[in-house]
Amino acid sequence: MKAAVVRKNCDGYFDVKDVNLRELKPGEALVKIEYCGLCHTDLHVAAGDFGKVPGRITGHEGVGRVVKVGPNVTSLKIGDRVSVAWFFSGCGHCEYCITGNESLCRHVENAGYTVDGAMAEYCIVKANYAVKVPENLDPIKATSVTCAGVTTYKAIKTSQIRPGQWLVIYGAGGLGNLGVQWAKNVFKAHVIAVDISEEKLQAVKDAGADMVINSAKVDPAKEIQDKIGGAQAAVVTATAAICYDQALGSVRAGGKVVAVSLPKGNIDVPIAKSVLDGIEIVGSLVGTRQDLAEAFELTAEGAINPIVHTRKLSEINDIVDEMKEGKIVGRMVVDFTNGAD
Ligand SMILES: [Zn+2]
Ligand SMILES: [Zn+2]
Repeated sequence: MKAAVVRKNCDGYFDVKDVNLRELKPGEALVKIEYCGLCHTDLHVAAGDFGKVPGRITGHEGVGRVVKVGPNVTSLKIGDRVSVAWFFSGCGHCEYCITGNESLCRHVENAGYTVDGAMAEYCIVKANYAVKVPENLDPIKATSVTCAGVTTYKAIKTSQIRPGQWLVIYGAGGLGNLGVQWAKNVFKAHVIAVDISEEKLQAVKDAGADMVINSAKVDPAKEIQDKIGGAQAAVVTATAAICYDQALGSVRAGGKVVAVSLPKGNIDVPIAKSVLDGIEIVGSLVGTRQDLAEAFELTAEGAINPIVHTRKLSEINDIVDEMKEGKIVGRMVVDFTNGAD
């Protein structure tokens, strides 16, 4: 089968190669991939930023149908549409796995990094970990739910925002835009979006944000404190370190700051403010199988509308360049439904 693999020299690009599939082991299923999105995380893996994995098949935003099941598989059957996400599997029995925090499992496997991923004609999955995709959900849009969609859904869940409360979202790009849609349409919050791009702010306004702030022009923390007395929670999807300072400054006493982005370097955390005002800072990493199942159902009902474009596998390195240049609005998704040309 054709697959996009990390190059030998880990130069940030992929080789499209013929790869032989191994036999299924007990508990595994074979998925014929229909669509797979390309993510910035894949670019980091291709460049060896998390450790070098030459030859690894990339892709953790995959959707396809089960075409074969191995021995002892009871949770999937042939014909089921399933997803391949970054959280590929956990050990299933540690304290994280059994308490609803399986993405923190110390023995986690990640698709396209520690195990072969979904940017290929076929992908072998662990049947109990491949979350089903509802039939009434567009499979192309579903690829974005496996990653950006569930990540933002989980982050807003983690913020514990309640209907009518104020939530600030830092960064109005791909993640932030979906975050605004979840916060408005599912969590029924009042939403403020902060970014330095007027274009992105206009897009989140169109997506339903109640207030937008251009942080290149005004201090968002001051603006939010002046206007509403501080928000109950903030979710940071932007990678600029200053956004964390601003987020901490924009919540009210008892507020929560949820970290999603990975800023370069360290952030000065104002411990005194955290103590005196009871501010919580908490990280949120992708989502569990249950979070993903919920995100799929809600997306099928129209809660969010990911922007997706389909491309060919042979164009994968063009997509890499376009992503590096920041040219893309929405997600590029490789279409395998007509084979892998
Ligand atoms: Zn991703
Ligand atoms: Zn575990």
